[in-house]
Amino acid sequence: MARLVMKFGGTSVADLDRIRNVARHVKREWDAGNDVAVIVSAMAGTTNQLVEWCRQAAVLHDTREYDAVVATGEQITAGLLAMVLEGMGVEARSWQGWQLPILTDNAHASARILDVNGAELIKRFKERKQVAVIAGFQGLHKDTGRITTLGRGGSDTSAVAIAAAIKAERCDIYTDVDGVYSTDPRVVPQARRMDKIAYEEMMELASLGAKVMQVRSVELGMAHNVPILVRSSFVKPEDIDPKKPPSGTLICDESEIMEQQTVTGIAFSRDEAQISVREVADKPGVAAAIFIPLAEANINVDMIVQNVSADGKTTDLTFTVPAADYQRALDVIVNAKKAIGYKRLDSATDVAKISVIGIGMRSHAGVAASAFKALAGRGVNIRAITTSEIKFSVLIDEAYTELAVRTLHSLYGLDKA
Ligand code: ASP
Ligand code: MG
Repeated sequence: MARLVMKFGGTSVADLDRIRNVARHVKREWDAGNDVAVIVSAMAGTTNQLVEWCRQAAVLHDTREYDAVVATGEQITAGLLAMVLEGMGVEARSWQGWQLPILTDNAHASARILDVNGAELIKRFKERKQVAVIAGFQGLHKDTGRITTLGRGGSDTSAVAIAAAIKAERCDIYTDVDGVYSTDPRVVPQARRMDKIAYEEMMELASLGAKVMQVRSVELGMAHNVPILVRSSFVKPEDIDPKKPPSGTLICDESEIMEQQTVTGIAFSRDEAQISVREVADKPGVAAAIFIPLAEANINVDMIVQNVSADGKTTDLTFTVPAADYQRALDVIVNAKKAIGYKRLDSATDVAKISVIGIGMRSHAGVAASAFKALAGRGVNIRAITTSEIKFSVLIDEAYTELAVRTLHSLYGLDKA
């Protein structure tokens, strides 16, 4: 007997048949004697539709009203799943974020959870073995009492926060893939499913392009030491033996990983754009003149490289921004031309960022160097590099994305046997 959180994403609750499938997964754990809290997303596509309606209603809408609208998708699936469970003889009750409540700050549309009250859920586990079905993604602002949402993909974060609040043994994230892979299997068929991955590695993978989980949810899991299991919702519930250890990828503390490899995964993102500000004076204040206006425009700058210009006297500054912010970033730089004092601007959107991640890099030298050599051997030119303690990233021409990912995947011995 255990206390479990089970979270199902949009594709897993996309219609009533799939909701019935989810209910059978829940019943399986409940029949095995577990206390169960289920967190659901909205049906696939629903949140996008709601967001689109908000945009059409008013381009510059109040985010308090945006939250009032987009939080509704999860209300539907929570109610439906509770009904289906009741119909199967499983005592269940649905909960909206505000009913528990899940208290958040007031950053509407990307609110942060401050506190979750799990007392009533625990009481009902004990008294009636009642399953709690909780709408993901939603919160309640602690002062105004208005509904908030946690940002796109936020129901992962709801699930981990509830797992921490009710002291669940594990938080199972049921999704349309059966675990976390060393890289995207659509690009590298030899990609391996990992049995375990450390929180920090998963955070890097998620923020660098792997779309498995919301980054904040992993952060929260790490802060509260909640083991998170990424597993498939499309396995037939009948085919799972609740007495056997479940299959999937466990996101856990690094101390629980016995054979830590140097490199665990490779992420990539094609949603990058590069801007080079050419021939600026090599003197104090220039970088500030470029990057402060970008920060004020809320544009996230990622990689930054400075090198000597072709004329040998001035300097070039190259940086990357998310492709979605590319045009805005260019406008910001052009507007600041006088303050920066550059000669020329070059830019490219056909670039990709390849990132290599592994906690083992902390204690192994030369990991990045071997990548540079291998990429050079394939004729892949590197436009920019960044490194941190457990990862490094290279910016390359987008056309070489797959070649580069495959090359590095086998270089670090990640191909499955
Ligand atoms: N339905 C929300 C979204 O699509 C939250 C979630 O599914 O995690 O972003
Ligand atoms: Mg999701």
